[in-house]
Amino acid sequence: MPQRNAHITAVYPGSFDPPTHGHLDIIRRASHLFNQLIVGVGHNPDKEPLFSQDERLKLLAPHFAHLHNVRAEAYEGLTIDFVCGVGGRVLVRGIRDLADLSSELQQANVNLAIGAVDTVFLLASEQYALTSSTYVKQIYQLGGGDATRIKRLVPENVARALAAKLGKPKRRSPARRRATK
Ligand code: ADP
Repeated sequence: MPQRNAHITAVYPGSFDPPTHGHLDIIRRASHLFNQLIVGVGHNPDKEPLFSQDERLKLLAPHFAHLHNVRAEAYEGLTIDFVCGVGGRVLVRGIRDLADLSSELQQANVNLAIGAVDTVFLLASEQYALTSSTYVKQIYQLGGGDATRIKRLVPENVARALAAKLGKPKRRSPARRRATK
């Protein structure tokens, strides 16, 4: 049985394509719970990434430079192999809603069964519960949104990188007046 005050390395894996304030909030909170936190930048075979793994690492890095116990690494292949390879004892995942929970439960069970690694779920902070990387990319792809709103979802370096790849989000146009008869 592990010692009660044993050193615990946790791994927070994900695509982070791109990183959002929601991801950064989970990283900050998990860094307070574990001795060491490794952010694993992986490849989800179901999703074609917009940013390369190297770009995602660079987008993430400045946001935890001040947290002495956090570092990020890219990995290929199975998450559980990466976790075991870096000596991780715990997986961290963020939960925004029931859809997240139902998809994460099965994955957590598999990782426990095949890797003997527990998953700790952290609930998304209220202000980030609706933020997703997919949604942020869609805002740029559709040329919608506005720069002020984007800042609530992603940090500035990510907003700049998105604008460079997909074009700037447009300014919100003034609300249309209803025609009066
Ligand atoms: P994946 O492709 O592995 O789902 P993501 O980068 O989309 O990777 O998400 C990584 C983890 O962060 C997942 O556990 C996801 O539920 C969580 N997450 C994503 N967005 C948020 C958010 N806004 N708040 C909290 N957790 C989040």
